Amino acid sequence: MTIEEKLKSSCKLALDNNKEESGCLFLLSSITGWNTAELYFHQAESMKKEDEEKFDALLHQYIYENKPVQYLTGEAFFYGYTFNVNDNCLIPRPETEQLVENILMLYDRNMKGQKADVVDIGTGSGCISITLSLEEANMNVTATDISEGALDVARSNCKKLGGKVNFLQGDMLQPVMDKKFDILVSNPPYIPTTEVVDSLVKDNEPNVALFGGNDGLYFYRIILENSVKIMKDKFIMGFEHGYDKSREIEDIARSFYPDANIYTLKDYQGLDRMTFVIRGYKNDTK
Ligand code: GLN
Repeated sequence: MTIEEKLKSSCKLALDNNKEESGCLFLLSSITGWNTAELYFHQAESMKKEDEEKFDALLHQYIYENKPVQYLTGEAFFYGYTFNVNDNCLIPRPETEQLVENILMLYDRNMKGQKADVVDIGTGSGCISITLSLEEANMNVTATDISEGALDVARSNCKKLGGKVNFLQGDMLQPVMDKKFDILVSNPPYIPTTEVVDSLVKDNEPNVALFGGNDGLYFYRIILENSVKIMKDKFIMGFEHGYDKSREIEDIARSFYPDANIYTLKDYQGLDRMTFVIRGYKNDTK
């Protein structure tokens, strides 16, 4: 079968089974080692037998066993970088790229050219912490996670991508309680335990990375309460959160930082997705 025929037949199968066609392209690209443009260029060529067998096996898992394509290829794209992922870590999401982008903008606005101590709480694959260290060499980045499995993924990503992050194992802020930071960023587990979750997510991604207590706010309370001991006088904090939680998170933040500038931004889908808590610095991301 040619590349073109394989792609067409697999995309049809995907559509017939309510799966995204793009998954087939990612699988084919990962197996052949060709990007989309190269696949197009080689489309009339026959697939190697071994590639075809590998592809069919992964396609089966993608379509009939409900596996996320990123765990099958072992790769997820984030902020222009390719991160390795497995089922020990959350698959990086595009919304989180916006959180990183806003933190970088706030840094540029307020601290450009200066060293900044930064902490990422619950780093998972390391997508936030590693990207920050790659994009801004002046950031001295520390990252925590409770899961050793996730930290293994994060450490190998950091090595592969050439980042510089100090990874510490422990619950939330516990491993950094003796340090002080200019910037805190976190995309903690935030799905309420009572919420009905898509089986593609619930059956595959680690529960410890998904659920945030009955109201989805459990980890924000812990982080904000403990942050008062580790943030410098002037600081910037940024959190990703559920689309309907901004008011509650702003209220929790205000209870610990009555004098801070607290505001929420929307994601590309127009949903309230990230809240910033800033003291002593300017905000220009609004
Ligand atoms: N910080 C990681 C990410 O944004 C992991 C988040 C999590 O596991 N909740 O993908």
